[in-house]
Amino acid sequence: MVTELAAPGRHLQSAPVITVDEAFAILDRTVPPLGDETVPLEQAAGRILAIDVASDVDWPPFDTSAMDGYAVLAEEASTPGVRLRERPGLVAAGDPHPSPLAPGEAVRLMTGAPLPSGADAVVPVEQAESGAGRVSFERAPQHGAHLRRRGESVSRGTVLLRAGQRLAPGAVALAALAGADPIAVRRRPRVAIAPTGNELVAAAQAPTAGKLRDSNGPMLDALCRARGWPTVLSERIADEPSAVERLFEDDGDADVLVTSGGVSAGDLDLLPPAAERAGWEILFHRVAVRPGKPIAFARRGKRFWFGLPGNPVSASVCFQLFVRRALDRMEGVEPPGAPLVLARLARGLPHPGTRETYRDALLVEENGARRAEPLLTAGSHDIAVHARANALIRLRVDTGALDEGSVVTCVLLER
Ligand code: AMP
Ligand code: MG
Repeated sequence: MVTELAAPGRHLQSAPVITVDEAFAILDRTVPPLGDETVPLEQAAGRILAIDVASDVDWPPFDTSAMDGYAVLAEEASTPGVRLRERPGLVAAGDPHPSPLAPGEAVRLMTGAPLPSGADAVVPVEQAESGAGRVSFERAPQHGAHLRRRGESVSRGTVLLRAGQRLAPGAVALAALAGADPIAVRRRPRVAIAPTGNELVAAAQAPTAGKLRDSNGPMLDALCRARGWPTVLSERIADEPSAVERLFEDDGDADVLVTSGGVSAGDLDLLPPAAERAGWEILFHRVAVRPGKPIAFARRGKRFWFGLPGNPVSASVCFQLFVRRALDRMEGVEPPGAPLVLARLARGLPHPGTRETYRDALLVEENGARRAEPLLTAGSHDIAVHARANALIRLRVDTGALDEGSVVTCVLLER
């Protein structure tokens, strides 16, 4: 058993450590968009649109009343003391177009009702007095008052939505207005999540001596779901070659496998060699980043594997930096990856050392400017501090020590 477990260490010594930018370049080169699918509009909220959507109708679709009232010719209704002839009946929303307004006539209608042609104003019912087939008005209506003209908001043929945009609720409204149901959207990556480690027990269990609750599985699952990516969260996987090998041999329908644990240089870090034995091509293993150095990335056919380190902060940071970028690319999100913003440091920071460093921070807006407060952390296991952070301060190896007030680049965290 001991000799068998020694193999992973040898594998690791030979893998070159690359920079974060080199890792990004590998992801950008190797991870293609997944393509499109057509879904019912009611399932499209939050999805990335695959096509431009042009309206096939005018909006409003016909001249219509904005109030309950009387359709009139403003000039006629403005004559002092006038009593117009009230057309019998009433036009409601959804009724067919009424016949044109006759001279001396007023037509009672409801909000959203089609306006009779010839009318150029609506007098609200509160300002009208009707009786014995006649109607008079408190004051003279303005030409164009309380009516909506066909196409004044959207004219037919206008492109309302662009390919690549995310369907927010307002965009869903426009898609519905334009008749885009079903609608073509980008396919979302399906993610299989597998936490590894003999020490892990489920969140619902009480850990016995030497054990701890799996927090990475639920966290990675939540990170994916926050971005709308469907997940399958597997049982915790033991640090045993057979269990790990099964994981890599299984060809489920996930586009991406995300594991936690088992990728660093320890004797029980079985995953990279097991992946290689199962035919996965390791595209990188170990990145000069803190936290998260042991991260592994591999491909087999059209599927990808991210091996995230087990320390909870490392797993989260690696997800935010690398996994999100790849999955965004698969879904056609532009630009892919966590957004970057500039902020001023609320206190000085020492030189980051030899690895590009990402520090937990709280970004706060102060008088319209962003300030980044570095959080004091006990290390890459300190998920309690990391869970409070809304951003990571990026410290590149060529930045020296930074004074308070220096401008730094921050990664906005998916939360
Ligand atoms: P590993 O990367 O497997 O060497 O794990 C590094 C550290 O992260 C160890 O202290 C583990 O106990 C811890 N760890 C690994 N997996 C998880 C997990 N799923 N949830 C919480 N902590 C974990
Ligand atoms: Mg482990």
